[in-house]
Amino acid sequence: MNATNTAAAGTPLTVLSDDERLFRDSVYQFADREIRPLVREMDEHAKIPQHVIDKLFEMGLMGIEIPEAHGGGGATFFHAVLAVEALSRVDPAIGVFVDVQNTLVINALLRWATAEQKQRFLPQLASRSIGAYALSESGSGSDAFALATRVTRRGDDWILTGRKLWITNGHEADRIIVFATVDPSAGYRGITAFIVERGFEGFTVGKKEDKLGIRASSTCELLFEECVVPAANVLGEVGRGYRIAIETLNEGRIAIGAQMVGLAQGALDHAIKYTGERKQFGKAIAEFQAVQHQLARAATELHAARLMVYEAARLRDARQPFLTEAAMCKIFSSEVAERVTSLAVNLFGGYGFVKDYPVEKLYRDAKIGQIYEGTSNLQLQTIAKQILG
Ligand SMILES: Cc1cc2nc3c(=O)[nH]c(=O)nc-3n(C[C@H](O)[C@H](O)[C@H](O)COP(=O)(O)OP(=O)(O)OC[C@H]3O[C@@H](n4cnc5c(N)ncnc54)[C@H](O)[C@@H]3O)c2cc1C
Repeated sequence: MNATNTAAAGTPLTVLSDDERLFRDSVYQFADREIRPLVREMDEHAKIPQHVIDKLFEMGLMGIEIPEAHGGGGATFFHAVLAVEALSRVDPAIGVFVDVQNTLVINALLRWATAEQKQRFLPQLASRSIGAYALSESGSGSDAFALATRVTRRGDDWILTGRKLWITNGHEADRIIVFATVDPSAGYRGITAFIVERGFEGFTVGKKEDKLGIRASSTCELLFEECVVPAANVLGEVGRGYRIAIETLNEGRIAIGAQMVGLAQGALDHAIKYTGERKQFGKAIAEFQAVQHQLARAATELHAARLMVYEAARLRDARQPFLTEAAMCKIFSSEVAERVTSLAVNLFGGYGFVKDYPVEKLYRDAKIGQIYEGTSNLQLQTIAKQILG
């Protein structure tokens, strides 16, 4: 094989293009400078300040894949994954705020909205509107298509009645993709997606959850009591919403993998710095081989998780099959995040257990990776189905 053929064989997965590297670095520098000083306060108050949200819009992070013609960044899904990773290295709650906007809401609109809907909603989302994605209900989580939110036709409108639970960005969102059924007896074939706008009659935001981790990210109940949705706000075809739900979540979970990789990197950064400074027995604890090996193992696992996330994201952008890889990257990176953050707490000793130091929060934040956008058992089910045929 000559040199040209070797080059054509492909670029290493973690080698970024100049544009990707500049983008990732600028997002990380922004997060380090503007978000890091606020992390503890946001966690305690369970709130993202408006000026941080404004900054995320100014940075173009709320419309990464939206075409430039609609006011967005015109970038790729991989860029969105890089942004979620870079933000989560500092604060995974900001990571998921940006993640839902880009990899679920905007992603679904880019794929299924009509030209008219794109013209209406994409410029809003790129500049000021916050999106949410409402599928789960109290009785339907893993069994998502058992949803009970009903919708019936009345003239030019659809009338939506039901309750959604656990909706990320629910407190802030003003454009929400809501899944409901036009016919419960039709099973998944009744499911239809709607774009609900804040201010629609019959729509209110209910209880905000008090959570273990990613506390600054709002998680709310959404209530629809005969909510009037114009027919122009149906997303995709009536009865085909299940495809939107499945396909968007298949892609979205790659970015949850990125959130977990960023979070684990943040914990490892802290652990490396701290073990280099903390002295016991007359030397830095990083000089003990046992500690070095623990850090080396964490770095190895993190590298593997990052490769899996980048591979799945690159496959998605290359329009290659990625279902198995997406499920694998989510389950693996969420487990790595749990292990690396746990190690970071251990290496901080007593200081790891208190809120004055940053790793306690990352340890709490890591847990969600095994729950949302499909629990670990559901990821294993997807992988098993693919490999067993
Ligand atoms: C912080 C947070 C944010 C969220 N954000 C959103 C959002 O923005 N939009 C949205 O629509 N939803 C959101 N969710 C909901 C989330 O996707 C669900 O919680 C998740 O899918 C699990 O559903 P469940 O909670 O009903 O658990 P269940 O489905 O009841 O699962 C409970 C346990 O049973 C296991 N289990 C269930 N079925 C099987 C099976 N067939 N085989 C083996 N094990 C099984 C699960 O793995 C899990 O361990 C969010 C949840 C949280 C906590």
